[in-house]
Amino acid sequence: MLDLKKDFPILNQTVNDEPLVYLDNAATTQKPTQVLDAVRHYYDFDNANVHRGVHTLAERATADYEAGREKVRKFINAGSTKEVLFTRGTTTGLNWIARWAEEILKPGDEILISVMEHHSNVVPWQQAATKSGAKLKFVYLKEGELDMDDLKAKLTDKTKFVSLAHVSNVLGVINPIKAIAQLAHEHGAYMVVDGAQSTPHMAIDVQDLDADFFAFSGHKMAGPTGIGVLYGKEEILNQMSPVEFGGEMIDFVYESHSTWSELPWKFEAGTPNIAGGIGLGAAVDYLSAIGMEQIHQHEAELIDYVMPKLRAIPGLTIYGPQDNHKRGGVIAFNLDGLHPHDVATALDMEGVAVRAGHHCAQPLLSYLDVSATARASFYIYNSKADCDKLVDAILKTKEFFGV
Ligand code: PMP
Repeated sequence: MLDLKKDFPILNQTVNDEPLVYLDNAATTQKPTQVLDAVRHYYDFDNANVHRGVHTLAERATADYEAGREKVRKFINAGSTKEVLFTRGTTTGLNWIARWAEEILKPGDEILISVMEHHSNVVPWQQAATKSGAKLKFVYLKEGELDMDDLKAKLTDKTKFVSLAHVSNVLGVINPIKAIAQLAHEHGAYMVVDGAQSTPHMAIDVQDLDADFFAFSGHKMAGPTGIGVLYGKEEILNQMSPVEFGGEMIDFVYESHSTWSELPWKFEAGTPNIAGGIGLGAAVDYLSAIGMEQIHQHEAELIDYVMPKLRAIPGLTIYGPQDNHKRGGVIAFNLDGLHPHDVATALDMEGVAVRAGHHCAQPLLSYLDVSATARASFYIYNSKADCDKLVDAILKTKEFFGV
């Protein structure tokens, strides 16, 4: 098992007089010293604007920022850094695609998403559908997983975009993206992947998946907030117009019109999140040194360890697939007779940080017929002792409320 707590200074604290057990990693992850140091080093020594300066600091800042892009390229096995666009996060990436989609979609066209999507993979498509006259369709579930029969029935030659989460932030289920991308392509549709919950936890190979677009967030993978990535196939990105306009993204500005910079900068208007790009590069270095296979294995072991203990608790409902091997390290649950906010508050009293609410997945919660759930989600620094603490705190909560 990995033993990495020492790299994460924030974890070395007590909350309500109990050692902190941080299990809200699907919302955001903690940052190791190596990432914090990289960001600090940039501000201490290299802070300057990128791409336009010829002085030494500007050159160093540009080199480190662009090195971050190359690290990301390698991490997801993109063919070229032209295909790696820095964004603010998953949400921005998905919005950029949907904005392009609304330009090319026509009445009668269809967009296919699923009922388990995060709002950031629902709302931009609702907007694209409304503006273009295309129809937004949902794939539903079977036994806590994507219903592949439903998907096959709804994927037709009318479908122009299929956009799905790689891993659900509520059900934890890992969707078979590679197989779905193949089906989408057979029907001439673009495959868009929301990789927010997969990229931090498993090896990603965008070429092997054959995703046309793949979006993720730095802050969920030990990197800083405010930086994310949109991968897109070069030939598609070349067809797309930039979404934002201004400095950095232009080649030449005339009084009447402008021409665009080449990829990837065509999409990156304004001063970018330089420290974020450098910090994300450091996070990628950190995760790569551990190994994504080891990370996936570590979380799978935690899930295998904790699931039977949770399933043995009377009155505890777990959402998502029965088979542990079909899920990542996300466990949404409810306790009979208790509101999940009360559960999360009671767990916090024990130092255990979990999330409660709709997890930005209201269509899914409506479909599951619940208004909210509690959610424990694991990352590289969590241990079996953290799992024991979670189980223990849930049992204490039940005892306290007499349920
Ligand atoms: N998709 C999924 C599956 C997520 O879990 C999240 C974050 N909770 C997002 C998209 C949005 O990510 P961000 O807020 O970093 O843009």
